Amino acid sequence: MEIYLDANATTAVLPQARAAALAAMADGFGNPSSSHTSGLRARALLDGVRASTRRVLGAGGGQLLFTSGATEGIQTAVLSALASLRARDADADAGPAPTLLLYGATEHKAVPEALRHWNALLGLRLQVLAIPVGRDGRHDLNWLRAHAPRAGLVCTMAANNETGVISDLDGIAEALAGSPALWMVDSVQALGKLALRLADTRIDYAPFSGHKAGAPKGIGVLYVRAGAPLTPLLAGGGQEGALRSGTENMPGIAAFGAVVAAIEEGRLFADRDTLGAWRERLSAALQDVFPGLVFNAPAQVSLPTTLNFSVPGYGSTQLLDLFDAAGIRVSGGSACSAARAEPSHVLDAMGLPAWQAVSAIRLSFSPMSDAGFIEQACERIRSCAESLRRHGHGAAVDGLHAAPLTLQTAADLETTPINGDLQTGAVTDASTCEVSPAALHALLLACPATRLVDVREPFEAVLGGELVGLPRLPASQRQQVPLSELSQALDGWLALPADSPVVFFCRSGQRSAKAAVALRRLGHAQAWSLAGGLALWPAVGPAQAAPPDRAALPS
Ligand code: PLP
Repeated sequence: MEIYLDANATTAVLPQARAAALAAMADGFGNPSSSHTSGLRARALLDGVRASTRRVLGAGGGQLLFTSGATEGIQTAVLSALASLRARDADADAGPAPTLLLYGATEHKAVPEALRHWNALLGLRLQVLAIPVGRDGRHDLNWLRAHAPRAGLVCTMAANNETGVISDLDGIAEALAGSPALWMVDSVQALGKLALRLADTRIDYAPFSGHKAGAPKGIGVLYVRAGAPLTPLLAGGGQEGALRSGTENMPGIAAFGAVVAAIEEGRLFADRDTLGAWRERLSAALQDVFPGLVFNAPAQVSLPTTLNFSVPGYGSTQLLDLFDAAGIRVSGGSACSAARAEPSHVLDAMGLPAWQAVSAIRLSFSPMSDAGFIEQACERIRSCAESLRRHGHGAAVDGLHAAPLTLQTAADLETTPINGDLQTGAVTDASTCEVSPAALHALLLACPATRLVDVREPFEAVLGGELVGLPRLPASQRQQVPLSELSQALDGWLALPADSPVVFFCRSGQRSAKAAVALRRLGHAQAWSLAGGLALWPAVGPAQAAPPDRAALPS
């Protein structure tokens, strides 16, 4: 069973939300703008969801617009604030014009990108500045207090998606006292986890995204304080009071309504103390496996559903590979940047040592979890210890590996760009080295001398993952050569006949692509990488998924 611990990236859809979406697509498919009975029913659903969302968010007399998600809510908020600043510029009696747009240094990328985009597009030329944060990830309120008088818009988040750090919203409000600035609070990670009474605050805009709390992707809500400027991002048929045109996403809204109803009712969402106790259990399991582990954010000011940690001696990709092989889904930093091995800008902004910022792992669970799931997760985490020990990683496991991480843990190859020949400047495109599962199956039938090389680390390989359903190969043609040891095996493959295929595979296809490119650069043209790796290997085997196809043979 998969242990999904990446809830800050997205959550599974709550069964009630799924049922509500299906109902809105079956009998309740009406368009809420239609005046016949089908339309009226859809309108009643829409109004009902807006009313329950208003109660749950404490939105009072503010506007609640259904959007496609937080990114759209953020654009609408930023556009609205900047359009009002532009209008103010044109008003000679409005007093000194604000010159700054401020955002927390640990904001989700959507915020600074939206600020820069609309600032340029509207020709405002305001200075966009990051509000520094302290080692605990919280905003520097003295800095904010000093800059607030010149700010036109201030963007802070309710809780951080990577670390779970909860912002001091009362402190921010106090620092903004007397400032003309509008205030956006990205509340994505707060829904279902923190109590919100939006209308009791001076917050002007609060975007939410349904898929972080049990609704499907593609539905969100934007709260706009009564009286705050609002400029439609989408103009058209006049839906949402002409503030957000486009036929409403009724299946998404129905599902969001089911989530909001569950939050209101409270039963499915564990309370803060219970969540805190679960986080403790997960922390203890992680510390059992990695005694040298350090947590990257203080638990007392973080969401009780999020842990961010680094392990001396391990890079984040190495740990991700290990956890993924054990069926545990976690992420390195935020999901949006997971494909790139870059240091986390969040941990960087907090002033953590570089090794922590590049090797961080985020573990996050849904407040809709239960005690049984948390126990299974702890057991699964502990199961990683045994495989690490058996495969020579005892030093790290026993906490002896106190030296800061050297990024070469998985050899220089890990950091070598896939494309581009370092020696000759010739480009080898990794995608030209790829074989699909069907092509690999066909290749083994056509060329029984093919070598199949597993480039995962042994501690990962032992946790599972097999290329099921392939023709059997003699043991001499199945090799296990971790990418970190590839250089020692290259001569053996270079000595093979030129037409002998060598196919590398790993968990995701990333490391095998590097191996195939390296072998090709050295002159063996028949070097291949299994596209998508074990992650995309068909559970029933490629022949069952699609019959072997000679036309699929790599060329
Ligand atoms: N803000 C925060 C804090 C987030 O975690 C996310 C998603 O990762 C977003 C904004 C963007 O949300 P969406 O991609 O659903 O629009």
